[in-house]
Amino acid sequence: MSSGLSVTVLGADGSYPGPGGACSGYLVRTRTTSLWLDAGPGTLANLQRHVPLEELDAVVVTHEHIDHWSDLEHLAVAVRWVVPRPPVPLHCEADLVSSMRAGGTDVFDWLPAGPGEVTTVGDMALTFSRTDHPVDTLAVRIDAAGRSLGYSADSGPAWDLSALGPGIDLALCEATFLSDREGSLSHMSARQAGATARAAGVGRLVVTHLWPRTDRAAARAEAEKAFAGPVAVAFAGARYEV
Ligand SMILES: [Zn+2]
Ligand SMILES: [Zn+2]
Repeated sequence: MSSGLSVTVLGADGSYPGPGGACSGYLVRTRTTSLWLDAGPGTLANLQRHVPLEELDAVVVTHEHIDHWSDLEHLAVAVRWVVPRPPVPLHCEADLVSSMRAGGTDVFDWLPAGPGEVTTVGDMALTFSRTDHPVDTLAVRIDAAGRSLGYSADSGPAWDLSALGPGIDLALCEATFLSDREGSLSHMSARQAGATARAAGVGRLVVTHLWPRTDRAAARAEAEKAFAGPVAVAFAGARYEV
């Protein structure tokens, strides 16, 4: 394990899982803290490849679209009946709590999150920014071990990564489709992800939340041209040192 901040991709498919895939989910770690950031379908299974559920410190869910949280229902079953541990701290907005079947203080310790708020999880400091999306959605900045991770969650191009502040070392930015679909939905193209990352001066860019049928090579090329630097396309199992 690294001594600093890392992010492991648990799933990176946008909106629905592709063949053998998983939707949005990331394990963010320092030496002492493990945070599950978004809990899309398929990500609970992949999470347990890396951390036992007893050692999970908290979950952050960015918004109520089910490609970002449906595995919380399965986590609730596990914690209620099988895994001996205290309730899991869950940072999210109220909309999500009302969407879930499996609430309950025996399972989750709900901690309201909102734009402009600062929260700590272990040795991580989290700040949130509301994005450009049809439901209330929180982009997240995580600072730990002297490094900074920025995560766009889902957003159209009316929000930009600079809203998370300067000095982002690694940005995980949604790039749902290619530039030919720009303006059709509240999501970014790979070109727009590259452009916002460049404008925000981020150190490294990883694009994620690509639809299963979005061409990965084309997305990378679009993002690299707009970012003017190398870009990685997230895939389940990838791990990045921030
Ligand atoms: Zn999504
Ligand atoms: Zn969404």
